[in-house]
Amino acid sequence: MGMDKTQKIKMPMTAKTIPMICSWCKKLYDYKTWQVDESRRTGVSHGMCQDCLNKQNAKIHDPESRQNKKDKPE
Ligand SMILES: [Zn+2]
Repeated sequence: MGMDKTQKIKMPMTAKTIPMICSWCKKLYDYKTWQVDESRRTGVSHGMCQDCLNKQNAKIHDPESRQNKKDKPE
């Protein structure tokens, strides 16, 4: 029985398409192609989808969502 346990599969891994998952809503929102080294293993990447990005931007720019200041400067 000559089963080779350490069989190495060689694949051309110069460019790889990986799914992008939003770390906020866990939605798979994009695919990204990037260069990878054979020595490095690249898995699923996490980021932020446009929806959540807009929500966060709206929160930042919306003064109502900020801490309510009781003392308003005139
Ligand atoms: Zn999202």
